[in-house]
Amino acid sequence: MKLLILGGTGEASALARALAGDSRFSPVLSLAGRTRHPAPQPLPTRQGGFGGAAGLARYLAAEGIDLLIDATHPFAVEISRNAVEAARATATPMLTVLRPEWEPAPGDHWLLVSDMPAAAAALGDAARCVLLTIGRQDLAPFAAAPWHHYVVRSVDPPPPESLPPNAEIIAMRGPFLAADERRLLTEHAIEVLVTKNSGGSATVAKLHAARALGLPVVMVARPSKPASETRATVAEALAWLAARHAASLPRGA
Ligand code: NAP
Repeated sequence: MKLLILGGTGEASALARALAGDSRFSPVLSLAGRTRHPAPQPLPTRQGGFGGAAGLARYLAAEGIDLLIDATHPFAVEISRNAVEAARATATPMLTVLRPEWEPAPGDHWLLVSDMPAAAAALGDAARCVLLTIGRQDLAPFAAAPWHHYVVRSVDPPPPESLPPNAEIIAMRGPFLAADERRLLTEHAIEVLVTKNSGGSATVAKLHAARALGLPVVMVARPSKPASETRATVAEALAWLAARHAASLPRGA
């Protein structure tokens, strides 16, 4: 069966590793092209937008895609909306892989906010040293709070014009270890951490380090993804694929 995996996450990469060499499926992995040097993948990979829901629907039809897997980031809502629409338009069975959210644990001091402007406002009027681990696409709202000192960590350095005035950059790719995260917070005298509620294990260590140091965390809530059949793990997604493949075989095969 021909599969299109919308990727850019650890789950998509894990699916790619699990499916490489599986003769039941002929998968293509699609990346948005956000990172300059994406990790090498064991599957045929394409990069860049499709041109909205209509463009994705045209791709599904032209490539004869049998199954669509949306394994994009929990904050990537546009592509998921397009995927649901394109799957419906082409009658392509679709599954969303969406990891669970992080939950606060005893000792955490989380301030929950609904979006990035609210996160910037929540930092308050007194100057603080802030670690931003929100990627590089959502920095603009922090220009409205230029009295803070920002340490911005992202996979690739953000474009200089997107940075708040008082910012330093750490370009690093996860996964991160709790001891390293603790050192980072201490060495940069971080007073508050801002993060999206991405969930997953690759970047959770910063929350453990903040808890150990008693630091507050401004936690940006997830936007809602459009309704679709959803699994939380790669193992469950693989089971869904296996069931779809079995159902496609002629009776008795
Ligand atoms: P988005 O806002 O949902 O998507 C914007 C457009 O990018 C889509 O409409 C689509 O363009 C294209 N696109 C997105 N994912 C694609 C994929 N897998 N293959 C092909 N095209 C894709 O998503 P985003 O701009 O990538 O990111 C939104 C949020 O997710 C940000 O907060 C970002 O930090 C976070 N995030 C994204 C990634 C990633 O790999 N994309 C990774 C980590 C975090 P067309 O309409 O032209 O098809």
